[in-house]
Amino acid sequence: MKSLDHALDQLLGMIPQPEQCEPASLGRALGRILARDISSPLDVPAYDNSQMDGYAGCVVELNTALEPLVVSQRIAAGHPGSTLQEGTVARIFTGAPIPDGANAVVMQEQVTVLDDGRIRLTAPVEPGQNIRPRAGDLSRGQVILQAGRRLSAADLGLCASVGLQGVDVRPRLRVAVFSSGDELRQPGESLGSGQIYDSNRPMIISMAHALGAEVIDMGCLPDRLEATREGLSAAAETADLILTCGGVSVGEEDHIKAAIRSLGSLDLWRIAIKPGKPLACGRIGRAVFMGMPGNPVAAWVTFSLLVRPAILRASGASVVRPRAWRVPAAFDWPRPDARQEFLRGWIDDGGCARIHERQNSSVLSSVTECSGLIEVAPSTPVRPGEFVGFIPYTELS
Ligand code: AMP
Ligand code: MG
Repeated sequence: MKSLDHALDQLLGMIPQPEQCEPASLGRALGRILARDISSPLDVPAYDNSQMDGYAGCVVELNTALEPLVVSQRIAAGHPGSTLQEGTVARIFTGAPIPDGANAVVMQEQVTVLDDGRIRLTAPVEPGQNIRPRAGDLSRGQVILQAGRRLSAADLGLCASVGLQGVDVRPRLRVAVFSSGDELRQPGESLGSGQIYDSNRPMIISMAHALGAEVIDMGCLPDRLEATREGLSAAAETADLILTCGGVSVGEEDHIKAAIRSLGSLDLWRIAIKPGKPLACGRIGRAVFMGMPGNPVAAWVTFSLLVRPAILRASGASVVRPRAWRVPAAFDWPRPDARQEFLRGWIDDGGCARIHERQNSSVLSSVTECSGLIEVAPSTPVRPGEFVGFIPYTELS
């Protein structure tokens, strides 16, 4: 059985990097993968400007004035002023351009305005004080975002700040999603004896969608080999990635692996993680196949740790692996599994990791009631106070 790291290396090696790109307006680019580096076409800010409402002047004059200073002009944001007359100051507002001849802004709270309109300073002034210098944020020609980045709202704001209306992004990955199992019914249908609701398919569809994929809902496969083969080969006609859940264990009712072997190749099966051991990966034609286990927590964990990186890599993202924070454990885990374990837990107010009391892979509420996965190394007990890896859900979204 491969370790998670080795399985992930192999899986990512199987995945082709996208070459195409398409334009996206800023309003539609959130979460998309940037196809090319973006360089700034201008300095930001493009001119020295005031960080405060106050008075702009020349430092030497401000600090040595014997008489109150005359306010010779008023400069509001969006309205450039004129060269400052010697021995005077300009009334200035936040974001307004600094006039030639001024090299500091005194905030209005540090000024006394006399009845005749002249001002007196109440504190000494430093050169550059309260001025946001030209190019203080970005310089013209500087690479501001690199290809492979998953675009955030702030990234799109940064693009707008240099005047871009849109960006070149990678096309959305086409992901086909199946559930499988004769016991599954859909929400809205009534449950007969021995039947359960199909919780995995909406969960997997939502996770793939949140990663920017174009999801094709392929429905639920019955536990029959021929029907499974037909469903999977239909998906391979259109999808880049085919996802299934259930039917990948060693039972007589598990037909997914046999179907994949007969239609293409099964390249990876069983990974040394708990939950999630039976994950199966392969190919059908040019489509990559990933079969997750049926237990809902195992499906959620294998999606988070393996399918997510695969989707991101196939979509052209450069960062695909989640990061774990090292935190002290506030729990005891005396009988670890021989596989690497991923416990559902959270960080308490004291900054320590705690675990949910029900860690069975069928208990989906253990995912919803927690906020991260806690890594336990193979066959390594955890005592309170020892450090463990904590992967917050934000690293998995
Ligand atoms: P399997 O891997 O097909 O043997 O499924 C393992 C367990 O997960 C069984 O208890 C299944 O009933 C359950 N299961 C499989 N698929 C789903 C699904 N889509 N939603 C909820 N439970 C499922
Ligand atoms: Mg099944």
